Amino acid sequence: MKRVLRSAAVAAGLMVASCAQDREPEPAPQPPPRTLTIGIKFDQPGLSTRTADGKPTGFDVDTAVYIADRLGVRPEHITWREARSEQREELLNSGTVDFVVASYSITAGRQQLVSFAGPYLIAGQDLLVRQSETGIERPEDLNGRTVCTAEGSTSAEKIRRSFARNVRLSTRDTYAQCVADLISGTVDAVTTDDVILAGYAREHPGTLRVVGHRFTRERYGVGVRKGDLALQSQITAAIRTMIADGTWRRTMAANLVTTGSKPFTAPVVFNAPDQPLAPGDPTTLDPDLVRVTKAISATSNARDWEGFRSLVCPETADAIDEIVTTYTPQYDKTLGPEVKTAGFTNTVTGVTQSDPDTATFVFHEAFTNVPEKYRHYFKDIDYTGNLVRRNGEWKLCSLAADFVEP
Ligand code: GLU
Repeated sequence: MKRVLRSAAVAAGLMVASCAQDREPEPAPQPPPRTLTIGIKFDQPGLSTRTADGKPTGFDVDTAVYIADRLGVRPEHITWREARSEQREELLNSGTVDFVVASYSITAGRQQLVSFAGPYLIAGQDLLVRQSETGIERPEDLNGRTVCTAEGSTSAEKIRRSFARNVRLSTRDTYAQCVADLISGTVDAVTTDDVILAGYAREHPGTLRVVGHRFTRERYGVGVRKGDLALQSQITAAIRTMIADGTWRRTMAANLVTTGSKPFTAPVVFNAPDQPLAPGDPTTLDPDLVRVTKAISATSNARDWEGFRSLVCPETADAIDEIVTTYTPQYDKTLGPEVKTAGFTNTVTGVTQSDPDTATFVFHEAFTNVPEKYRHYFKDIDYTGNLVRRNGEWKLCSLAADFVEP
């Protein structure tokens, strides 16, 4: 009996020991959840505004939340920070925000200061006027009138550069302040991107209307701190997934079409690089792809159109030939002899490979020796080209041109 008891005790002891071994180990202390601070606008209905209870909402906000999710950050761990037009570069480079999704156009000037992923939306500058206005249908009609826009915006730059002599420009911190001035009659028009103006027109039906005459192309990018190429690539990948899985189209329709914009089409997304592609770089790309993109720009710089043509898909060769050889100073028959010495140079500024057989590249075309009188005619161009690998060979199969505002 004693023996039995003892072995029962031993058995019980063993059980305790084995229970102790089986017990779930104490959970290791979790690392704090990842957090992000994201710069957005607070007053652009449709793109980025706040609900009555202070929650951000709109297309830019949904884009930011999607990107954050792909970076492993849940919406409740995002801190939203207002990024007015004039503040965006400073907020990024001081590290106050991790990235900016705030109707932020990719421009050559800004690429000196920050890096961009994108574009994720293409808008265009337009005019917002009072419903009763009959004299303003296009920017040329602003002569002698007062137009309001936000300081630090491309919209202000465009008016200063192209219309400054005859237009009175009034700048404010935000577009909402301009809209208040338009309603009160202090200014005659508000100018910025059509997608932003549509949101304000929708908020003031019967009082304000968008003229509907786009006069620039604004490619919205996600701004990151200058040179943070790792984050830039992660965001580019996130935007491409957002487009591919249908989220982009759904949120565009829900936020932008409902404010009166025509449906947008998704742009080709790339790392908008702030420096030319270095030789042999980047290592993640198919080396043949890098070689071909360089050959495309080299043949065009050498005006070797036969060589260029050999790198182009047969079905698009004629169309591309025509763009390249017609709209350049030496070939444009509508221009006078004084442009004969003008020329251009192309530099590859970015390559993104989406899968083994498709890629996108951007090359920047800068015109040289252009006589002053033709300067406005020859703006720099960013070409976005799609490359496809067929039978093992990369070919340029389509090309889109975008004028670049300095
Ligand atoms: N997209 C233009 C810009 O980045 C105008 C809109 C804005 O100010 O955010 O300057």
